[in-house]
Amino acid sequence: MKPRKAAKIAVIGAGMAGLTAAQKLLANGAQVTLIEKSHGPGGRASTVERDHFYLNQGPHALYKGGAAYGILNQLNITPAGAIPAPKRSLAIFQGDLLDLPLDAASTMATKLLSITDKIEWGFLMGNLAKSNLNSLQNVSLSQWLQSTVKSERVQELFTAMVRLSTYCNNPQKISAAAAIQQLLLAQQEGVLYLDHGWQSLVDSMLQLIRHQAQESQEDQDGQERKTRLSEIYGAEVTAIVPCKNEPGLNQSLGQLEITINGSWQNFDAVILAIPPKQVSKLLSLDAGATSLAATLDNILPSHAACLDVCLRKLTNNENTFALGIDQPLYYSVHSTTAKLAEDNHALIHLAVYLPEGEKGSEKHEHLLLELLDKMQPGWQEELVYKRFLPNMTASFGTPLAADNGANGLSNVTLPVVNLPDQVFVCGDWVGRGHLLVDAAMSSAVAAAEAAIARARQRAYAATNAT
Ligand SMILES: Cc1cc2nc3c(=O)[nH]c(=O)nc-3n(C[C@H](O)[C@H](O)[C@H](O)COP(=O)(O)OP(=O)(O)OC[C@H]3O[C@@H](n4cnc5c(N)ncnc54)[C@H](O)[C@@H]3O)c2cc1C
Repeated sequence: MKPRKAAKIAVIGAGMAGLTAAQKLLANGAQVTLIEKSHGPGGRASTVERDHFYLNQGPHALYKGGAAYGILNQLNITPAGAIPAPKRSLAIFQGDLLDLPLDAASTMATKLLSITDKIEWGFLMGNLAKSNLNSLQNVSLSQWLQSTVKSERVQELFTAMVRLSTYCNNPQKISAAAAIQQLLLAQQEGVLYLDHGWQSLVDSMLQLIRHQAQESQEDQDGQERKTRLSEIYGAEVTAIVPCKNEPGLNQSLGQLEITINGSWQNFDAVILAIPPKQVSKLLSLDAGATSLAATLDNILPSHAACLDVCLRKLTNNENTFALGIDQPLYYSVHSTTAKLAEDNHALIHLAVYLPEGEKGSEKHEHLLLELLDKMQPGWQEELVYKRFLPNMTASFGTPLAADNGANGLSNVTLPVVNLPDQVFVCGDWVGRGHLLVDAAMSSAVAAAEAAIARARQRAYAATNAT
């Protein structure tokens, strides 16, 4: 019997979603072409090294109990890093620095809450895990808080904790179920700041897939070190169209052709690990698919304005973490937890969680510099480097109550008029029940599994047709 030809699958986008999809495809024997428009892999998970500081693109924390950590563990990748454990976490309220009530001791100590607020906060957090999440998928966070919590201060505090764990500053729209689930994830197992930044994840993943692509080929023919992975960087994919129908084959199972830097290549399936607006543009969805185009173009992202600061040393060693309660602010010294700088040097991430429709601007930079003055007075004397990233997309999708808690699209299958059903999507805007990189990597696994199944169906139909 002739050996089955490996399915030829293109993955467009080499962020953590694209790399995860490529890994799963290679593990299932596929031949993979990974196409990335930047000059290297990693996307938003890439880290820049500057003067021995490792700068992620804004503050990044990996949820230890999350899907991404689980997927990495299954691949024998153990992310190196540590759980932040600040001596004192601060709440910024009306310009004052108060204790952030994260446990019994800080709740007792804080001046942020009155005695009755403290009782209500303790009760709320103590019973959070008992929430009936199914019934809260289509309820917004604000609706849920108004019906559950009496104290406005407690509502504000809870909303701030949700901003911290989801990156979403939209309590009127985010699903209460998704918000609670993410907060529980953060509370129960904590988060990790990663040594040498998130690039360490990108590098481990890349090393694994390159190795996997070679090993399997060697197993099959026993001699040549060929690879089933082709990586193309700095390349723009400009179109995806159906191949001319193969004789005897149903149009819905035909191959796809894509243009890579102006030349055409055929594939059995394509996985798009890119932002939703890029998907809509790439598939030229205006003709005959207006509702899908509208859906993709209207998926709600979550943005943040970020200030990344490298100092020779901290001017105040106590102030390592603060969260804005009445303003959507974040401040954390990541280098006291993970290996992100040499010796006593300090890497600080600050951010404003931007509300829907607001663009990051100088106003936000000033706000963050004021916060830095408060936390590290005289920081200018110790400054090595800083950068302001005004408009970062922390997530391309938001789990909306109006969408019953789905992140943007609930499914990895993209039914496109005039294209065979072999186009799949993944990213932090796809799926439900996971957010951020957890959504990106879990949807990538699902997209790869669907693509493999579809390519096998295609191969079977093609064999029977000849
Ligand atoms: C400020 C900030 C903070 C964050 N904090 C956290 C956090 O604390 N915890 C967490 O879990 N997640 C966090 N995230 C989110 C996390 O970085 C992403 O979910 C994760 O990196 C997965 O990304 P992705 O692969 O889906 O998308 P991306 O990393 O955006 O990758 C998409 C890739 O596709 C490429 N591309 C786009 N269009 C095309 C095209 N037409 N052809 C070819 N290539 C194309 C892009 O260049 C890019 O490399 C944060 C993100 C930001 C920006």
